Amino acid sequence: MSRSGRKTGCKCQQTKVASQLYLLCILGLSSPRCRPDTRPTKTHYQIMPIKLTFFGAAGGVTGSSYLVQTSRARVLIDFGMFQGRGEKEDMNKVPAALDPLKIDAVVLTHGHLDHCGRLPLLAKAGYRGAIFTTEPTIQLASLVMRDSAHLQEVEAERYNRKHPEKKPSEPIYNAKNVDELIALFKPVNYYQRVEVAPGIRAQFVEAGHMLGSASIRLTVEEGGKTKNIVFSGDIGPKGAPILKDSVGFHQADFVVMESTYGDRDHKPLAETVTEFEGIVKCAVASKGKLLVPVFAIGRTQLLLYLLAQMFRNRTVPKFPIFLDSPMAIEATKIYWEHMNLFDEDFQALSRERPLTQDLNTLKATPTAQDSMALNDQPGPALIMAGAGMCTGGRIMHHLRHNLSKPEACVLIVGYQGEGSLGRRLVDGEKEVTMFGEKIQVKATIHTLGGFSAHAGQTDLMDWFSYLAAAHPRVALTHGEDRGRLPLSKLIQGRYGIKTLLPQLGETIEL
Ligand SMILES: [Zn+2]
Repeated sequence: MSRSGRKTGCKCQQTKVASQLYLLCILGLSSPRCRPDTRPTKTHYQIMPIKLTFFGAAGGVTGSSYLVQTSRARVLIDFGMFQGRGEKEDMNKVPAALDPLKIDAVVLTHGHLDHCGRLPLLAKAGYRGAIFTTEPTIQLASLVMRDSAHLQEVEAERYNRKHPEKKPSEPIYNAKNVDELIALFKPVNYYQRVEVAPGIRAQFVEAGHMLGSASIRLTVEEGGKTKNIVFSGDIGPKGAPILKDSVGFHQADFVVMESTYGDRDHKPLAETVTEFEGIVKCAVASKGKLLVPVFAIGRTQLLLYLLAQMFRNRTVPKFPIFLDSPMAIEATKIYWEHMNLFDEDFQALSRERPLTQDLNTLKATPTAQDSMALNDQPGPALIMAGAGMCTGGRIMHHLRHNLSKPEACVLIVGYQGEGSLGRRLVDGEKEVTMFGEKIQVKATIHTLGGFSAHAGQTDLMDWFSYLAAAHPRVALTHGEDRGRLPLSKLIQGRYGIKTLLPQLGETIEL
């Protein structure tokens, strides 16, 4: 009896009234508090090195996902979608080496699709553990994943209609899987330390990349030792409007760091803002429509903020602005709910008077009818609509109606993929085919490249500088070789740290 009691770690044995309580205990008459503790004790675990596996964003910028594994727990950091055509689409599954039912917890850095887009696959596979992230990320990731499920369902239906003879295409997950996944979210505040799995605590700090974005430090206990592993997530540029700047950690044994723009700095933001003002003034003077293909989250809210400032400073007279994207409308509502997280400049402007007063010419057009009615709207007017690369969505209809008008302007504010209509416009094509129609491009096409949500090389090095004194091991991820090789060289040259450049599926011991 006593041997089995010792084995199961009965707490009664450790108290001064041990004998009495222990007697009750072995007779099965004890209170729940002193029933034998059947949880496995340390001695049940084979101590092993902490392992880190790269399930995405290794040598590329999409599909972010890493697994930290100890003898007691497995924690997944992000589970993003691979983006791009063909081969990359086939990678959007649960890797064979990852068993969703053996994951203890997930921590999520932010709500972009390339960080959260595969999460519903976990719910589909039966995962019911917690997903820890900030409250705004819960809201934005939910929006993004619902949109992703919807687009996949529409795409599959379209394919099956077109190719009835072929094997039916199926979405990788549906709205039900997304809802099941959303139910698993657990909100955490910045700086709060939370135990996410046995022996693993997480702390989130501001990453300055999008609302709710975080860098995460995992404090991992294994074999009586503690290791700090920092995941940068996506780091924002310093001094960008609206968001607070990223916060650097000071202590780490291992760092997984993004390297998207490890090779260069962006054009100074102030120059880009001045250019933007010039383009808006020009469009207002020509009394045409200014069409802005936008990505719903981040860029849209940034432009609205800059427009509000321009109206407040009377740089341009107020004129109608239309937010013609259901997703951008929802994302903007979420941003406005969390103004307390915005930077000091934003807070100061808001204290003078709410920015919504400056934006009283802003109108949301959620329905297709609202959107179509914009065809009859006289200029000047600014219309923000998706898709950001002009690959579909409402912006296509506005372009069709306005590209041939010399008084119209198109403002490209984001990256335009190879072969997209947006890229052809940026490249100066004078004739494009849309909806089977040839359209002469007479509108003015402007490009603004300085509104990146990612830190350039200098800001990445600044973020790392806080950790450098601890001389951690470093793995560079979330970057093509073009970005990560120059950053690797710079870190080695400045701090003497040779960085790791992990491959997809690679596991390293910490
Ligand atoms: Zn991101």
